[in-house]
Amino acid sequence: MWTGLIAHPACFGHAPPPGHPESADRLRAVIRAFEHRDFQDLVRLEAPLACERDLLRAHSALHVANVTGRFADAAREDGYVHIDADTVMTPGSVEAALRAAGAVIAAVDEVHAGRLRNAFCAVRPPGHHAERARAMGFCLFNNIAIGALHARQSHGYRRVAIVDFDVHHGNGTQEIFFADSDAFYASSHQWPFYPGTGCTTDRGIARNVLNVPLAAGAGSREFRAAYETAILPALARFGPHFVFISAGFDAHRNDPLAELRLGEGDFAWATAAICEVARTCCGGRVVSVLEGGYDLDALARSASAHVRALMEA
Ligand SMILES: [Zn+2]
Repeated sequence: MWTGLIAHPACFGHAPPPGHPESADRLRAVIRAFEHRDFQDLVRLEAPLACERDLLRAHSALHVANVTGRFADAAREDGYVHIDADTVMTPGSVEAALRAAGAVIAAVDEVHAGRLRNAFCAVRPPGHHAERARAMGFCLFNNIAIGALHARQSHGYRRVAIVDFDVHHGNGTQEIFFADSDAFYASSHQWPFYPGTGCTTDRGIARNVLNVPLAAGAGSREFRAAYETAILPALARFGPHFVFISAGFDAHRNDPLAELRLGEGDFAWATAAICEVARTCCGGRVVSVLEGGYDLDALARSASAHVRALMEA
């Protein structure tokens, strides 16, 4: 059984202004890393476009209409539109965002059909800060939430779990699933930090949210302890039918945006551990989606280590 790599060249076309950390060079570094012969067995697929029905599972009609209509039109006319201080749309952004969400949907379909054991979606813009009715923090649509709701509503995987090791808390994913007792969201993240959410008392309607904040300067030991003592046991207790990973690599010690001190080996370790829980709960069905990661070398090495762990799972 194979590991898939789902991507699309349109994801390079979302072009925030020069100096913005969420640049197309990030994705170029990741895609280049997968040219290494270690990855010749990956099944490479082009991401389809998500359709409106897919987006509406996670987002309000107004948000979908704004991103695909009003903001997209303004970006085409003026070259760019600022949605908030960090979040920009340019003429290529809508297709990039629809391919990013579509990648997760295609990955779910392939894993469901048994053609892939697991998959990594190498896409941008990222998604985990996008709330039901709001783009923010570089994110337009919540790619992983759209994929998880597709798994449930198109294929009947009722209990969906999302584990998020991006250095930032996934406020959008938490918000979308907060009142959904058949969804489990677990996050390790630097705290206090952007976006301000993710304290331990955020637990969801049915203790279906688990936040493990880590202090600035925390490294491998604290990160692994968070997974061994809290996140992995809770994930196993939840008993997911399908597991998703919000794979941001900005908790790397070289990352310029944050102050955790992980190495690529920590991402590989967490990936293997999450896959092991998925193996016992749900036949190893795992779909992982790129979120952050802003040092290009660290990002490329970390994404490689992560996908190697998926291939070995
Ligand atoms: Zn991040």
